[in-house]
Amino acid sequence: MVNTDLLVVGGGPAGLAAADTAASLGIDVLLVDEGRAVGGQLVKQTHKFFGSGEHYAGVRGIDIPKLLNREENSQRVRILTDTTVVGCYEDGVVSALTGEDNYFKIKAKRAIFATGATEKFLSFPGNDLPGVYGAGAVQTLMNQFGVIPGKRVLMVGAGNIGIIVSYQLLQAGVPVAAVVEAAPTIGGYLVHASKLARAGVPILTRHTILEARGKDAVESAVIAQLDDNWQVVPGTEEEVDVDVVCLAVGLSPVVDLLRQLGCEMKYVPELGGHVPIRDKNLKTATGWIYVAGDVAGVEEASAAMVEGRLAGAAAAAELGADKQEADTVISRCLASLDALRGGPVGEKIRSGIAKLEGGAVNA
Ligand SMILES: Cc1cc2nc3c(=O)[nH]c(=O)nc-3n(C[C@H](O)[C@H](O)[C@H](O)COP(=O)(O)OP(=O)(O)OC[C@H]3O[C@@H](n4cnc5c(N)ncnc54)[C@H](O)[C@@H]3O)c2cc1C
Repeated sequence: MVNTDLLVVGGGPAGLAAADTAASLGIDVLLVDEGRAVGGQLVKQTHKFFGSGEHYAGVRGIDIPKLLNREENSQRVRILTDTTVVGCYEDGVVSALTGEDNYFKIKAKRAIFATGATEKFLSFPGNDLPGVYGAGAVQTLMNQFGVIPGKRVLMVGAGNIGIIVSYQLLQAGVPVAAVVEAAPTIGGYLVHASKLARAGVPILTRHTILEARGKDAVESAVIAQLDDNWQVVPGTEEEVDVDVVCLAVGLSPVVDLLRQLGCEMKYVPELGGHVPIRDKNLKTATGWIYVAGDVAGVEEASAAMVEGRLAGAAAAAELGADKQEADTVISRCLASLDALRGGPVGEKIRSGIAKLEGGAVNA
């Protein structure tokens, strides 16, 4: 049995920020991540981040994990990569697996779950043909392994992920036939969409994919226009020559372990699906588990990092860190989250969180 004051599950921006903050407040941390390296989604994000300097705007995503995993905290933060938390038990013990067969148990006084989110899929005929990918897989192939997914791509989804991955495909020399988006407007930031438009890629709003066609792999895709009731407009079907269909249709929080631990969930579409109920410092009603990042509601790396710091400081305060120092960090994080979620861009997240607060503990 490995005993630790604070266990952090997941080493993406939320988990790394949580570990960094708790360690800075004097707490010993064990961070486990199933990947070969920490960073979560950041390990494939070669583009420069947007937002403010406080949230690493202008820094490439792949360079952010180093900034969150600081040398000065290395004595306090123990990191186990290639280690997956596979089970959680009522007595507060979690079991983990390193490599293929090294199972062990961890007992923590407090835990922060920062397990991120997983890609949503779409159902349509041919969606099991080789050549149908999630956008994360395409990004991993290209940006981590230097492999292009095919010769010509249809992108489904014009949120930030669909738009950014489309641009990265163009940078890798892979033409994007079109981006289809069922909603009436582009969901991603217009600065990114404009780059695609300038490169001649049509972004077809109120359009969807109906079918992927091919014998052994994707050879073409059928797209069509949608009306205001999300129904296909007859006669608008069009076959597009592509060997890759890339789906960028949203993310769902990875909450399985939290369910095992008995955390209460609420379905909040604005936050990506089922999310754990928690108080304003991200503590669940279990009394020892905190959540942070996309698992608490799908947002962006900037919000994930601030939530990680918030949960890290709140857990540290309960573990005996200086209360005044921890409270200062907590207040700063709460103000920073308010700022990130301000204005028209943050409206969806604000309304999602408002729904959650109906059932939040101690909110
Ligand atoms: C194409 C793309 C572009 C983006 N661009 C931006 C941008 O410019 N700016 C921005 O702010 N955000 C951006 N984002 C969003 C951002 O990447 C995510 O919001 C952020 O990574 C969420 O952080 P997280 O730590 O919550 O989760 P993740 O980064 O997903 O990390 C979760 C970690 O938990 C680990 N894990 C999960 N389950 C277990 C388990 N059982 N045991 C052990 N480890 C586990 C995973 O391996 C992973 O490393 C982008 C996302 C994508 C896909």
